[in-house]
Amino acid sequence: MYPTCAQQLALLEQCGHARYVWNLALEQWSMWTRDKGATPGYVEQARQLTEARAAFGWLRAGSQTVQQQALRDFHQAVRNFYTGTHRRPTWRKAGLREGFRIVGSQASRVVTLSRKWAAVNVPKVGWIRFRLSRPIPAAKSYRIARDRMGRWHLAFAVIPPPVPAPGTGEVVGIDRGVNVSAALSTGELLSCPGLSETEHSRLKHLQRRLSRCRRSSKRRQRIKAAIAKLHARAADRRKDWVEKTSTALARRFEVIRVEDLRIVQMTRHPKPKPDPEHPGSYLPNHRRAKAGLNRGILANGWGLLVQRLEHKAAGRVEKVNPAYTSQTCSVCRHRAPDNRESQAVFRCTACGHQANADVNAAVNVAAGRAVSARRGTPVRVSPKREPQHATSA
Ligand SMILES: [Zn+2]
Repeated sequence: MYPTCAQQLALLEQCGHARYVWNLALEQWSMWTRDKGATPGYVEQARQLTEARAAFGWLRAGSQTVQQQALRDFHQAVRNFYTGTHRRPTWRKAGLREGFRIVGSQASRVVTLSRKWAAVNVPKVGWIRFRLSRPIPAAKSYRIARDRMGRWHLAFAVIPPPVPAPGTGEVVGIDRGVNVSAALSTGELLSCPGLSETEHSRLKHLQRRLSRCRRSSKRRQRIKAAIAKLHARAADRRKDWVEKTSTALARRFEVIRVEDLRIVQMTRHPKPKPDPEHPGSYLPNHRRAKAGLNRGILANGWGLLVQRLEHKAAGRVEKVNPAYTSQTCSVCRHRAPDNRESQAVFRCTACGHQANADVNAAVNVAAGRAVSARRGTPVRVSPKREPQHATSA
């Protein structure tokens, strides 16, 4: 989207209102205690919003749709958290993932200006021009978002039809590694582009300079913007790769088998481990190592790839328990930790089969050979929890 300077200010104000309402709702939700009765739901919070709008002029000056929608979005986030598909809603921060949503009849005020350009009438802001990246769909709502680099985006909420299956019956297994982003059972290795060597060292350099800057100095702001630009560039490349790869895979293969890795759980911060012999001190919990792994996982865009595959090849993605896929020979099914000669090379100690370790694992995933004990189990089971006996009532 290409708003004028005045429009940008108006949009930022709306983002601020949405953020304010969201954070207030989050605060109320997370500070709520049992003795206060039922946690306020959407209806109650919407009523409070009406009261707040009556009391505060600056809030009343903003769009009611935007503020109400922030509340609705928050309640959707809470629902997703309780279903176990998403993590706990977090605070909205200024300048990070800012945005708001417009719904209903207000969302239909869109005109096409030419083959490449269109304009949207945003409540309280006016007509803003935007570039068409695809034909405008028949959508009931849209979201306006501003990324860290200060670029504005307009996204219409529609679920596109899934990619049709090729009808060949071909099955592919995907193993997601850290060295390469994904290995296919066909032997192909795919890697998700990130930052180049030079960009990486520039990022490190900027981060060092940032730490030496005085708070709220002009220089600090400039360096922060430069860092945001690099992050945005990496994210753009990652997203582009994920979209292209997922479409290609959905078109080529009938069934796509992936490892059922709990990214959400894998990337969680490790808990501090108290030392039983010295109360008050802690044992190493490998926090730094895990943080490095987190970066690797997120940089490779694992979760996003599977998520997009599930959207595009709906019903054709199968999740396989990844236990032992990396230790099992894909030819003779001999399983031993020694099979893994190194991080990259697999050599079977029984039949001598040698292959790229990730490809070998991908073949196992494709065969669905790994125990699929997890299938059919509830979405969220703590890995630390002991298996429970079924109790007779
Ligand atoms: Zn073997």
